[in-house]
Amino acid sequence: MSFFDTSIEFLKGVGPQRAALIQKELNIFTYGDLIQRYPFRYEDRTRFYSISEVNDEMPFVQIKGRITKMELIGEGFKKRLVGHFTDGQGTLELVWFQGINWTLEKIKPGIDYVVFGKPNRFGSKYSIAHPEIEPVTQKNQGPAFLQPVYSITEKLRARHVDSKFLSKLIKDVLQLAQPHIRETLPVTLLTKQRLISKKEALLHIHFPQSHESLAAAQQRLKFEELFYIQLRLLKLKLVRQEKFKGISFTDVTLLTDFYNNHLPFALTDAQKRVIKEIYADMKSGRQMNRLLQGDVGSGKTIVGFICMLVAIGGGTQAALMAPTEILAQQHYANLKKYADKMNFPIALLTGSVKKKDRRPIHESLENGSLKILIGTHALLEEGVRFHKLGLSIIDEQHRFGVAQRSKLWQKNTDIYPHVLVMTATPIPRTLAMTLYGDLEISSIDELPKGRKPIKTIHRFDSHRLQVNGFLKEQIHTGRQVYVVYPLIDESEKLDLKHLMDGYESISRAFPDIAISILHGKMKPDAKDYEMKRFAKGETKIMVATTVIEVGVDVPNASVMVIENAERFGLSQLHQLRGRVGRGADQSYCILMTDYKLGADSKLRIETMVRTNNGFEIAETDLKLRGPGDLMGTQQSGALDLLIADLGKDGPILEQARAEAREILDNDPELSNPAHQNIKKQIELSRKTVVNWSRIS
Ligand code: ADP
Ligand code: MG
Repeated sequence: MSFFDTSIEFLKGVGPQRAALIQKELNIFTYGDLIQRYPFRYEDRTRFYSISEVNDEMPFVQIKGRITKMELIGEGFKKRLVGHFTDGQGTLELVWFQGINWTLEKIKPGIDYVVFGKPNRFGSKYSIAHPEIEPVTQKNQGPAFLQPVYSITEKLRARHVDSKFLSKLIKDVLQLAQPHIRETLPVTLLTKQRLISKKEALLHIHFPQSHESLAAAQQRLKFEELFYIQLRLLKLKLVRQEKFKGISFTDVTLLTDFYNNHLPFALTDAQKRVIKEIYADMKSGRQMNRLLQGDVGSGKTIVGFICMLVAIGGGTQAALMAPTEILAQQHYANLKKYADKMNFPIALLTGSVKKKDRRPIHESLENGSLKILIGTHALLEEGVRFHKLGLSIIDEQHRFGVAQRSKLWQKNTDIYPHVLVMTATPIPRTLAMTLYGDLEISSIDELPKGRKPIKTIHRFDSHRLQVNGFLKEQIHTGRQVYVVYPLIDESEKLDLKHLMDGYESISRAFPDIAISILHGKMKPDAKDYEMKRFAKGETKIMVATTVIEVGVDVPNASVMVIENAERFGLSQLHQLRGRVGRGADQSYCILMTDYKLGADSKLRIETMVRTNNGFEIAETDLKLRGPGDLMGTQQSGALDLLIADLGKDGPILEQARAEAREILDNDPELSNPAHQNIKKQIELSRKTVVNWSRIS
């Protein structure tokens, strides 16, 4: 057991009870956990501001001055205590709404105080509500510093474990830890990247003396964190390439037949390029692990099918796994059209396929007569055994993690199938390098010709009559319309009520028009029935929750109305918009919002209106929300970063990956003595990082 595994219970001032509480509330068990719990922000005590410099963009300011007058203003719950505060040049107001009597007793006019807080502007005047306030002393006159602030819960605060307390514990542990802190990066790398040592970094991340020392500490720790993630991923890739042979497919007879006789349209240049990239992998004799990303509607399905032809032509089978039942059905319907032309048996296997219908699928799969199997997670079940699986396609839309991906390629025991991961939400580069850093990446960055870009429009709820008028017009020219409602309350009952209310008002506004409704609580048969009615054009409006996000493909539906659009994330809005624009007609996406919008919502809506480019949208989304909140990435584990931020630290990530690659290129086994720090670090973390070791 190392020093860093010591329980925090043994720290001065902690003890078993507090330790238990800290464990429960903050997930901090050991000295190591404590040291690695970095401050989430710092209060700038490095300088005093003069009141004339203050503006309301400043998060916190520290000002020296005195109170000229204390004044009670207002009645009842509006009652407040105002201290008129001046530094000799300007004035501002200190305001207390609570603890008025106590403050009146303690804080007196005429004494010099150091005041610290967030300035707010009212008209031309600034005020600070509930400031930290202390008489000027030797101590707060002293050297400048940045005060670390740690996340704390209410429960801890109630037990007097606050940010300052945590800071004190960390100071103590850091002192004890000095002889135990190991350098985790090669010294040559530190020099090359101009990084400070681990020891210094830990000290300055918790107790920075200046903005510069803090920046150096952050740089060093972020680099280290990203470096090790990339090193693991690249190593995983390396091991796989060496260990896992892939079936080498060279027979292109089927492919040629399809190209010459059945191709329903000319492929785009981007489609041709990615097919070449994928084919090169499938021919190489090494197992393919490739991510195919392309915007909604960019034509990934036919690319997938063409790759299946390569696998089938080589005497093997192909599988496609989708995240939802609806999506699996959709893929099945699309691929069946192509498969029928080539006379290949194809089947659909999902959770709702009855037992008696499964047997023939299982049998034909095992004897090899079934060539293509489409499905959901059901494909991963024990009973599903392929005769010889040559290609696994995973359509994941961020929903499967690394671990699940690997399950599908373990379906063959002797030689692993090639794996192609398709994703419809383009992923920003930094995220792709982290989530899929072990994969090669192909991108379809071009839409089929002749598509009219979708027009996206923002309307306030007060324009509803106009919008309805527009919908009527569209329906009269033969088009169909989606109206989508968000999940608002996280309570299914209430969400359903919102949807039903919407459905009712739409029914009233369009009395002579047939309307469908679709939501997650419906039985699969009922969903299917409604979807088919809409797809056939029997109903003109589809009122739905986000279940349609990954589902329906109805080329005639050319208008998408998104209600409460401010409640959706950017990627989700973009996904929803992708449901229209599939036919030859001009399509529209109408984003309905309340009149009042927060800054982030505004930016999301503006971004949607400005661009149809999924890559641009994904970048903005990442910046706005951070990677942890992007659709489905929470489960991935790869993104539980201690300090790095994939939205902001792209440049550091690029460098870290480049360095990791260079090191592995020259020394794949890390046997060079110069790399012993790395080797040791990997061995140590292997014990704790279950996620990764299980896969590699
Ligand atoms: P996605 O990438 O979203 O899965 P799809 O594969 O569903 O896109 O393709 C969207 C639509 O575009 C489908 O109707 C498909 O038949 C059509 N399509 C795909 N490629 C082309 C192309 N090269 N030319 C014309 N239409 C195409
Ligand atoms: Mg698709």
